[in-house]
Amino acid sequence: MSGAGPIYDRVALIGLGLIAGSMGLAMKRAGLATEIVGHARTAQTRETALRRGLCDRVCETAAEAVRDADLVVLCVPVGAMGEIAAEIGPALAQGATITDVGSVKQAVIDAVAPHLPAHVDFVPGHPLAGTEHSGPEAGFAELFRNRWTLLTPAEGASAEAIDRLTRLWQGMGAFVETMEVDRHDLVLAVTSHVPHLIAYTMVGVADDLRRVTDSEVIKYSAAGFRDFTRIAASDPTMWRDVFLTNTDATLEILGRFTEELFALQRAIRTGDGAMLHEYFTHTRAIRRGIIEAGQDTDAPDFGRGAAATDRPPARRGVSS
Ligand code: NAP
Repeated sequence: MSGAGPIYDRVALIGLGLIAGSMGLAMKRAGLATEIVGHARTAQTRETALRRGLCDRVCETAAEAVRDADLVVLCVPVGAMGEIAAEIGPALAQGATITDVGSVKQAVIDAVAPHLPAHVDFVPGHPLAGTEHSGPEAGFAELFRNRWTLLTPAEGASAEAIDRLTRLWQGMGAFVETMEVDRHDLVLAVTSHVPHLIAYTMVGVADDLRRVTDSEVIKYSAAGFRDFTRIAASDPTMWRDVFLTNTDATLEILGRFTEELFALQRAIRTGDGAMLHEYFTHTRAIRRGIIEAGQDTDAPDFGRGAAATDRPPARRGVSS
């Protein structure tokens, strides 16, 4: 895919779940790293990672895995980043680049940066790609193709380190952009974090609503509810950490959401059809913009029923 040979000699993947696994497979396929070393907390995950070829070898400790790595990627839940950074800090090689894939950036930077020695470059990152599946069986090499990865380089990170990491992500098929940290957390609150919370809420409401039986909810779910359930099936640990760490931005957007919901509630109660029609016309245009930007399929029903030669974008559409 890259055609330009390895970008890094040794990449250490800390955490071997959906995102790390997809990175390992994508790097291998494009020949972007000479060696990929992995670490996960449990022996079972490490064994699965080896069996699936997500990395070339595994280590029992994170500190061991990062030794002599010129790129270290933290792929653990946001809430675990600090303890991992404290462990690997003293073992990091001179000139190494440290990055992460966490869904929230300010909290990761606050937790990780204090543990890093001065002789490394810290370039936090976030691939806007994911699915509702997690763990070492979930990754696939195409996950990042035509998806954005946002980098929020720390002050003092070298241009060369940023450029090299950019080329790595591009080699895995991603578009790359750098962004201010607080901008990232606000944008993601709008595009991912609050939508997930709404999906969790809607599925919870349906579960509570005893007037509609469970069998009816399941049987007629294709009417829209099904897509909420897919998002609400996302990993509970990851999403707990997102809301515990991107608190300000999600609360701000939730406040705005509640206001809009009240406005729509009022329009329904007062029979204000013009308001509803205008509102839905506007939201339809936003959907068209997403399709024109190549970030989802225009196929009816999100491409369900399409030939299973590749995973349709809708299936890859749960990102954080
Ligand atoms: P995942 O599939 O659940 O994998 C998490 C991995 O981290 C597992 O290998 C787990 O090991 C390991 N781990 C957890 N706690 C650990 C600890 N204390 N020490 C060492 N290893 C630990 O998660 P994921 O979906 O790949 O997400 C990883 C990161 O990517 C998160 O920060 C998330 O915010 C971010 N992200 C996720 C998505 C998404 O849609 N899923 C999208 C973009 C970014 P064991 O299996 O051995 O427990």
